[in-house]
Amino acid sequence: MQYRKFGNTGMMISALGFGCMRFPENQLEDDSWEVDQEKTTEMLMRAYELGVNYFDTALYYCHHNSEIALGKALKPVRDKVYISTKCPLDRVQTKEDYEKTLDESLSKLDTDYIDCYHFWGINQKVFDEKIVPMGLLEEAQRLKAAGKIRHISFSFHDTPEALKHIIDNGPQLESVLLQYNLLDRANEEMISYAAKKGLGVVVMGPVGGGRLAAPTELAQKLGSGNLHTYELALRFVLGNPDVSCALSGMQNPTMVEQNAAVASLEVPMTEAQWRQAGQSMEDLKKFSELYCTGCNYCQPCPQGIVIPKIFQAYTYHNVYGLTELAKKTYWNYVNNEKNPGATCKDCVDCGLCEEKCPQHLQIRQLLKKVEGVLESL
Ligand code: SF4
Ligand code: SF4
Repeated sequence: MQYRKFGNTGMMISALGFGCMRFPENQLEDDSWEVDQEKTTEMLMRAYELGVNYFDTALYYCHHNSEIALGKALKPVRDKVYISTKCPLDRVQTKEDYEKTLDESLSKLDTDYIDCYHFWGINQKVFDEKIVPMGLLEEAQRLKAAGKIRHISFSFHDTPEALKHIIDNGPQLESVLLQYNLLDRANEEMISYAAKKGLGVVVMGPVGGGRLAAPTELAQKLGSGNLHTYELALRFVLGNPDVSCALSGMQNPTMVEQNAAVASLEVPMTEAQWRQAGQSMEDLKKFSELYCTGCNYCQPCPQGIVIPKIFQAYTYHNVYGLTELAKKTYWNYVNNEKNPGATCKDCVDCGLCEEKCPQHLQIRQLLKKVEGVLESL
């Protein structure tokens, strides 16, 4: 296992981290769920033996049972590993709620301290309108001084600009957990910024939440031989020197062993290979019939059509050969429970999107074609 400096925290963490959101579970007769502790402990201990020392959970993972299962499994080696968990801000209506939520995690994990305690899944609005005015950064610092938290962290879902805003205005923050993979490099520049500012950077979804995990076609398209796509994707994330750790939500000991082997490579990818992989991904897209950069300038569409999302789904299929991912992305968008996605059927031909697209795409025509293909997959 390779170990990397974790920002300015003084920690050296394993290049592979264990994402504890997919433990094996059983559904009980009363419809509640329990984690299969035996299988989970076996898998976590295998990871520990292979050198994984960073374990990331959250209060709600695995039907609220992940922290308990993780705490039980790691009890014998607690002082040799780092535990990360997360505070859901919807639970925090007063400053006191923050400590109460932390105490609940400490109790479930059966430990006296959390190594990295995250503000969970925040965006700029939550940061500006809740965390800062409620004084939660100062509260976290107080609890750090009291020994309950070792490092103050946040996980993040917003634009790169918002990430910069949070880093610049949250000097107490010591590490960030964010999305980054071969298919979604939007955060790349800010990963470098965070690292320069001394934050540790942990990546979630290094293999696209398992999405990249299936075929080898992508590696072949990129001229990377017969590498399994999960391996190519993990190597790519770890090939970025500003990334401290890639989390993987592993579900069995085999996955643990496969990922640990990649994270043990001294050089997962040379700088030249890393640049080449990124460039090849871009070129594949560029020379395809539909080069949408995902810049979002066409948004918002007055009819609510999320054009880049639909084009992205098509690119997964048409350019990268990731057809299952394309179907999942498209249908998740169209059938979204809370907010079903608008499609070309809703287009009123206003042409606003085409006026704003720097690639001069004939968006209206393309939407019809692309959706026809996606719906027939
Ligand atoms: S032309 Fe259609 S897709 Fe483009 S902005 Fe207007 S309604 Fe939206
Ligand atoms: S403006 Fe054009 S390139 Fe940018 S996201 Fe929209 S369709 Fe894609």
